[in-house]
Amino acid sequence: MQDVKPYWQNYVDGEWADGGAGRIAVADPATGETLAEQALADAANVGRAVAAARRVHLSGALSSLRAVERGRMVQAMGRYLLEHIDEISRVLTLEQGKPLWEARVEIEGAARYFEYYGNQAETVEGRSIPLGADYYDFTTYEPYGVSAQIIPWNYPVEMTARSLSAALATGNACVIKTPELTPLTNAWLAHAAEAAGLPAGAVNILCGLGHEAGAALSAHEHVNQIVFTGSVPTGVAIASAAARNVVPCVLELGGKSAAIVHADADLDAFVNDVRWGIFFNAGQVCSAMSRLIVHASVHDELIDRLAGMASSLSVGAGIDRPEFGANMGAMVSHGQRDRALGMVQNAISGGAVAACGGAAPDHPGAFLEPTILTGLTPGMAIARDEAFAPVLSVLTFETDSESIAIANGTDYGLVGGVYTRDIDRAMRTARDVRAGQVFVNEWYAGGVETPFGGYGKSGYGREKGREALWNYVQTKNVAIRIRS
Ligand code: NAD
Repeated sequence: MQDVKPYWQNYVDGEWADGGAGRIAVADPATGETLAEQALADAANVGRAVAAARRVHLSGALSSLRAVERGRMVQAMGRYLLEHIDEISRVLTLEQGKPLWEARVEIEGAARYFEYYGNQAETVEGRSIPLGADYYDFTTYEPYGVSAQIIPWNYPVEMTARSLSAALATGNACVIKTPELTPLTNAWLAHAAEAAGLPAGAVNILCGLGHEAGAALSAHEHVNQIVFTGSVPTGVAIASAAARNVVPCVLELGGKSAAIVHADADLDAFVNDVRWGIFFNAGQVCSAMSRLIVHASVHDELIDRLAGMASSLSVGAGIDRPEFGANMGAMVSHGQRDRALGMVQNAISGGAVAACGGAAPDHPGAFLEPTILTGLTPGMAIARDEAFAPVLSVLTFETDSESIAIANGTDYGLVGGVYTRDIDRAMRTARDVRAGQVFVNEWYAGGVETPFGGYGKSGYGREKGREALWNYVQTKNVAIRIRS
């Protein structure tokens, strides 16, 4: 049993509070044992948090500040996370399952959002529109007011940081609904807001059940804007609630993203990309490389190399894996592991071949072996549906147009990748793949600076980059008549 505080409260209007819906047990997926209990908010708690955020907004305590001052507070939140990285990453590993070194990567990534959007705060400038000599006309950008953010369990700190940093930088007050499986580490974002000097009520962080607290938050009449990261069905429910209140929402949903590997690709570099692309965070990454579409002429050689790399990963408790290396942690829960394992077993019964993995390792915990499935056809469920697991689905192609057709053959469109030394082929593929982001010769190329979001069922709106700022502001035009 790890030494973690036994009970964690919600943070509402600058105070730590119990939840009206009781408590939920948070488990360590590497052992299945209860790690701690988390307060569960009910609709009344959500209402209190929204009221606090609305009060802050209407008071102008955030929105009337000079942008550079807000930006400095946002930057300070990121520094706070880095100062506490040892404690946060330990709890993150215990609640989420990822190796300790990956948890540190997540906290560094979260801090980077606060740095980036803190810097961007004072760049949100309007423009002047020429209307002739008798007018001055200008635009300004105003915050929506109360921003509601509903967070998934795979990167709880980083996903909250992504929305919270941009929302605060643009002057919104925020209510965060944390995920039931991994709520604990969001507490440090409340500590960070306090340490940075944000007013009470500017940042509220509650855990609650999706259909209860999440639904209450997304339907609340005083929420002015919603950001949701998670699954497609929940995204549909949240977008419907937003539509009923006529408020905008950003949906960051799932994916079944494909890497297209041509015969002239640098296969050594690609093998390293697969290690990150599908085995980082045990494949529980919305933009994971979950499909490989490989030219038939290099299929066998590449699969041999990939199976060698995947089988070399040591799979076990994240807390025992502090160093970067060939290792992988638990999935987030036994439920998620069993769901993914079921998808793998169905694929194998339908004719797929496991080039490696395909089973749960022979020790307790929510683990799944790094798995590579070959012999697939594009119509199979494992080639179309998101497994959200360390499972790479491999398909082959003969012609360039066939590779694009397979890549575009799912309902999703989050990211895609192409590996080739031929610049024209790379550019044609980047043009023709229907996805919000295309990587050429490096999976995950880009960063906080580059816009991210989906086509199709992967959602709409963009997070990251300067694009994300426009999610959190509305344009006001002021036209002034000059009289002589
Ligand atoms: P989920 O949709 O089940 O839950 C996400 C959040 O929504 C949780 O906080 C949950 O409590 C809440 N929720 C559930 N039902 C709700 C409702 N009716 N109203 C309001 N809130 C509700 O998703 P998950 O299982 O936590 O996350 C996995 C999924 O998220 C995967 O499909 C993955 O691809 C996707 N994801 C996408 C991104 C991205 O940036 N595109 C990032 C991470 C995860």
